Amino acid sequence: MSSTSCPECGNTLSAKANRCSCGWLKVRKEVLTTIDYRCAYMHTGRRCPLPGTITPHYRGKALWYCRRHYQALDDLKAGESVLRDAESNHEHFLEEQRDWRRKLFN
Ligand SMILES: [Zn+2]
Ligand SMILES: [Zn+2]
Repeated sequence: MSSTSCPECGNTLSAKANRCSCGWLKVRKEVLTTIDYRCAYMHTGRRCPLPGTITPHYRGKALWYCRRHYQALDDLKAGESVLRDAESNHEHFLEEQRDWRRKLFN
């Protein structure tokens, strides 16, 4: 049986696997067929690892973005740098996002 590795965490997956326990989902570029509330930002096949908290769509199938990608939706360069930061500094971003939610709902 052939295998491949998860592009995000490096876990060994079967070649047919389309998801990984780390949250990685195999999706066609820019086309998300399921809505999973993870930030929908994608660049060169890499998807933002952060949970989506904001959606610019109000009807139909909504795509969710993390706060930073939502703010950078029209800015390609900013979006890329947010993705790089998010990949290397995942924990920090999640922490920050939690703080932000707390502020929002308190
Ligand atoms: Zn993985
Ligand atoms: Zn994002």
